Amino acid sequence: MMSRIVGIDLGTTNSLVAYVDERTGLPVVIPDGEGRRLLPSIVGFTPDGIVVGEAARRQLARRPADTVYSVKRLMGRGWEDLKDELRYFPFKVLAGEGVVKLAVGGREVTPPEVSAIVLRALKERAEAHFGEPIEQAVVTVPAYFNDSQRQATKDAGRIAGLDVVRIVNEPTAASLAYGLHRLGQGVIAVYDLGGGTFDVSILRVKDGIFEVLATNGDTHLGGDDFDRVLMLWLLEDIQARHHAQLDRDCIDLARDNEFMQELRLAAEAAKIRLSTEERTTLTLPLAGFTYHRVITRAEIERLLEPLVARTLGPCRKALADAGLTPAEIDQVVLVGGSTRVPLVRKRVQELFAKTPHSQLNPDEVVALGAAVQAQILAGGIKDMLLLDVTPLSLGIETLGGIVSVLIPRNTTIPTSAREMYTTSVDGQTVVDMHVVQGERELVKDNRSLARFELRGIDPMPAGMPKIEVTFLIDANGILQVQAREQRTGKAASIEVKPTYGLTDADVERMVEDSFTYAEADVETRLLIETRNEADTVLTHVGRALRQAGPLLEAGERQTIERAVAALREAREGKDRDAIRERTTDLNHATEHLAEVMMDAALKGALGTRRANEIMTSKAEAPPSSGDRR
Ligand code: AMP
Repeated sequence: MMSRIVGIDLGTTNSLVAYVDERTGLPVVIPDGEGRRLLPSIVGFTPDGIVVGEAARRQLARRPADTVYSVKRLMGRGWEDLKDELRYFPFKVLAGEGVVKLAVGGREVTPPEVSAIVLRALKERAEAHFGEPIEQAVVTVPAYFNDSQRQATKDAGRIAGLDVVRIVNEPTAASLAYGLHRLGQGVIAVYDLGGGTFDVSILRVKDGIFEVLATNGDTHLGGDDFDRVLMLWLLEDIQARHHAQLDRDCIDLARDNEFMQELRLAAEAAKIRLSTEERTTLTLPLAGFTYHRVITRAEIERLLEPLVARTLGPCRKALADAGLTPAEIDQVVLVGGSTRVPLVRKRVQELFAKTPHSQLNPDEVVALGAAVQAQILAGGIKDMLLLDVTPLSLGIETLGGIVSVLIPRNTTIPTSAREMYTTSVDGQTVVDMHVVQGERELVKDNRSLARFELRGIDPMPAGMPKIEVTFLIDANGILQVQAREQRTGKAASIEVKPTYGLTDADVERMVEDSFTYAEADVETRLLIETRNEADTVLTHVGRALRQAGPLLEAGERQTIERAVAALREAREGKDRDAIRERTTDLNHATEHLAEVMMDAALKGALGTRRANEIMTSKAEAPPSSGDRR
């Protein structure tokens, strides 16, 4: 029997688990024993143990420091990335090693450990439903999640005892739920407005393959803000109508936490009712009197209009980034509870000039799509290949701090790439591999993803070892890097560990910067490469002179030494052409020396050191650390 795979939406506020019902072929959400479909993504640490979901939500007000919510915002991210966001968290966040940790309930936990508690609750929910163990899941993440954040999500699954067989982008999942993978070809806009975050993604689907063309959004905009504006408007109204009573009793409602909490809940309930009703009555008992207020759809829409308008800018930006006009969007999908607000639907429909898909429950659509993907993977749906693309280029640092890209940005995954590198120092036995991500030419301007070492290389002259570096991105967007020295067969298979995370804005900035600085970057890169080439030739000539110098006539030796001195001087300057010319001169001056050399290998090395070859051949570019050791 084929093993069952469930689909999981691991959300910022709520999480869900779903599967495809084999009898109907439709995806359905699995409820808990009491019929609840959404599991609040909240974990409480109490002296008696850990609580999750509703139980954790109930203790939120009482034990804010020991109740973790919105942990998704912390997944795979470093202290530096989060500094500005920490004020949103009432629990303690610590700078861990690369990624942050939380100090809650008298202990330290990592964000994946907290997410694992949510995942385990969903796993148990599914196991209770099927009466059998569930060990595999498809889990969704936002399209803009970087490798660290995706890896952290996978880690959470592993901790929960779930093999995350695939990570799927949330907008891709939502499109799957609507069956849009069956479109031969098309462009889809996914508008996702939840409780606290807003995301918009532009996807292209072709032959069942989804490609993320652009993403945008606002990490702090959602239904909570709708509640807040309504609540503040109601507070003013109460104060205006009842100021006599309030003043007499010296009541300052804004400072009454309990009242404000009740007002917030009443405001949210009224907002939800107004999504289906034209008018609603809000009733709030206060000390000594009761506040009654009829609120109309028109009134709430006036209040929400500026907030809804704030989502349209990111939509236009995503369209511009994808190089598309609204008319070129074929399908629009709505995700997130706040897309039930009629005004939101109206504005989205106006912008894209299309009726959005909204037949499915917007809270559940991502989990339903994850279930569809799970079914495809389990073999229940045939002939489907589902892929995404890498958001940023991936490469390694090479000599002089320049980046050698192995997998360019926007490559469809899964994918792999292979390049040959070598050392730049004689007798080097260890090579530092530095994996970087980004669009700039120099390592210092990109994001450092991981470092590892290839050890145990036999001591050889510089340039002799052949180091094969393989990058592999699996279908989940997780990167594995392997380095192998071919001559000695020494191999090191290394897992890339996530370090610091990236914000959405960072990705955008990195891509923008690469355009802004393109010219200067290329110039710097070419200068470094020309200098590297000069250094390599100088090293080899120095070695050859030591070994075979005595066999040369004094005049020839002097000519070579003059050419060496001239190249050394040129190398200190910034004139690329001058360095290249002096390198060529030195190569000419040593042609006879190369012939004299008995060492065939060395002769070969000298013979291949031609500037133009080295400029274009990556196999000649040694990993940066090569020259540091
Ligand atoms: P999500 O994070 O996708 O679960 O969305 C939660 C948000 O959707 C919360 O702010 C809810 O108040 C809001 N929401 C849920 N149902 C409705 C509704 N019928 N009308 C307006 N907002 C809703």
